[in-house]
Amino acid sequence: IKTYEGKRVIVVGLAKSGLNAARLLKKLGADVTVSDQQPLEKNSEAQELQTEGGYTILTGEQKPSQLDAGFDLMVKNPGIPYDVPLIKAATKANLPIITEIELASEIADAELIAVTGSNGKTTTTTMITKMMNQERPAGKSAYAGNIGVPASQVAQQLTDEDTLVMEVSSFMLLGTTQFHPHIAVLTNIFANHLDYHKTRENYVRAKMRITQNQTADDYFVVNFDSDELVDLSQQSMARVVPFSRLAKSKAGAYELDGTLYYQDEPIMAAADVKVPGDHNIENALAAIAVAKIEGRSSKAIKHVLTTFSGVRHRTQYVLTSEGREFYNDSKATDIEATEMALKGFKAPVVLLAGGLDRGYTFERLVPFFKEHVKAVVLFGETKDLLADAAKKAGIKNIKFVENAETGVPVAYSFSEPGDIILLSPANASWDQYPNFEVRGDRFIEAVETLTGKKEEN
Ligand code: ADP
Repeated sequence: IKTYEGKRVIVVGLAKSGLNAARLLKKLGADVTVSDQQPLEKNSEAQELQTEGGYTILTGEQKPSQLDAGFDLMVKNPGIPYDVPLIKAATKANLPIITEIELASEIADAELIAVTGSNGKTTTTTMITKMMNQERPAGKSAYAGNIGVPASQVAQQLTDEDTLVMEVSSFMLLGTTQFHPHIAVLTNIFANHLDYHKTRENYVRAKMRITQNQTADDYFVVNFDSDELVDLSQQSMARVVPFSRLAKSKAGAYELDGTLYYQDEPIMAAADVKVPGDHNIENALAAIAVAKIEGRSSKAIKHVLTTFSGVRHRTQYVLTSEGREFYNDSKATDIEATEMALKGFKAPVVLLAGGLDRGYTFERLVPFFKEHVKAVVLFGETKDLLADAAKKAGIKNIKFVENAETGVPVAYSFSEPGDIILLSPANASWDQYPNFEVRGDRFIEAVETLTGKKEEN
C-alpha cells in the first residue's frame, strides 16, 4: 500500500466516489482539501466531512485560486470536464490529475483486471474473481472492485501479490489518463446510456479508454460476435483475445456445437453453465478467456461455471415452488436486458415488468413477448406502454398491479407447473423504489411469503 504521508491532495467534485477518495487519502496520510461547487448548506457530503474534521473544505464557485495553497495531486470526479477554469489551471500548473479508479490502481501495486461494456460487467467481474480464487496460488487473492464497494476502498486491503478485478462504467472511464489494466475486457456496446453521453461516438470512445494505455505485454479481451468491436479492437496496442459465442473466432474462448472451448481445448458443455441465457454464455466465455490468460485450469473454471447461480438481482435464480421457478432480474433497467433474460428461458414465462418512464416504447419487446411470455403483470409509470406491446404480441393475460411485490401472487395465479415467474422490469426503478436492489429484495420477500420457502443459494 502506498502512503500519502505529507502529500497535499485536492479532491475535486464530491459525490460518493469523491467522498470515499477524500477519506481514504486522509487515512493514508495525505493532507486533504476538497472542492465542490454545491454550497455547503446544500452539500451533504461536504457537511459529513466537516463533521468528521481534518479536511480543508472549499464549496461554491471553483476558482483557479483554490490551487494557490499548492498541491501534489488532484483527484477529479470523472464528470468534471477538463475545460472548466479550475481544471485548466491545474493542467497548466502540471499538477497530476487522476480519477477515483486511477487512485484505486495507484494505491496498491496489485495486478489489475478491468471489465467494461454496456451489460454483463458485474456478472463477468464476479465470474473472473471466483475463477481466480478457485485455484489461488499461495498468498495471492483476487478481489472484486466497484461491485457495491468502490474500487479504491477495496484497494486498501490488497498486497502487491493480489489481483484487483474491477468493474468500470463508461462514466468512470471518462477523463482517465493513466488507467492501465493488465487485462481489459469489453463485453459489448449497446445503444443505451446515450442520454448521458449524448452521442454514441462519445460513449464508444469512453469505453475504449479501458485499453488506451495498454501495451504489447497486456491483453484486451473482446466480444468478436460484434463486427463493431472487432474493428475497434484494432485500435488497441495490447494482445487481442477474442471471445465468441457464435464461433466467429477460434483464437480465444468460443462456443462450438454446444461446447465451450479455449483455443483447441474443450472446457465444458454450454448447457452446464448454471446462470441462464445466451448472454451469460458470453459472460462465461469472457471470464474463461481471462482465467486462461491467468493460467487457471479448466477444472477450476468448470467448477465455478457449474455452481455460480448468478449475481443478486441479475437473472438470479430465487427458488422453486410447486413446479414454478422464480427469477429476480431487477437489475434489468433497460429493454436489452429484459430481452436477454427472456431469451434465456425455454419454458413459458410469466413476466413482471414496468417502472420509470424514459420516453421509449416497448415495440422491440413484441417478438420476445410472442415467443416466450404467456402472461404479463405490470406496474409503474410504463405499465400502459408495456400493455400495448403485450397486446401486439397477442398476450391475453395482462394485469396491472401496484408494484413488483403485490404482483407476485397475481403472477402465480397465471402460472402452472413448469413455468418461469420472472421479474425483469425493462425499466429503472426510481418511480417507485429508491433503487433496483430494493425492488428486487421486495420481490424476493414476496416470493418467500407466497411460497413459504427461503431463497436458495
Ligand atoms: P452490468 O454490471 O453491466 O449492469 P450485469 O452483469 O449486472 O451487468 O447484468 C445486468 C443485466 O444485463 C442482466 O440481468 C442481464 O439481463 C443483462 N446482461 C448480462 N450480461 C449480458 C450480456 N453479456 N449481454 C447482454 N445483456 C446482458
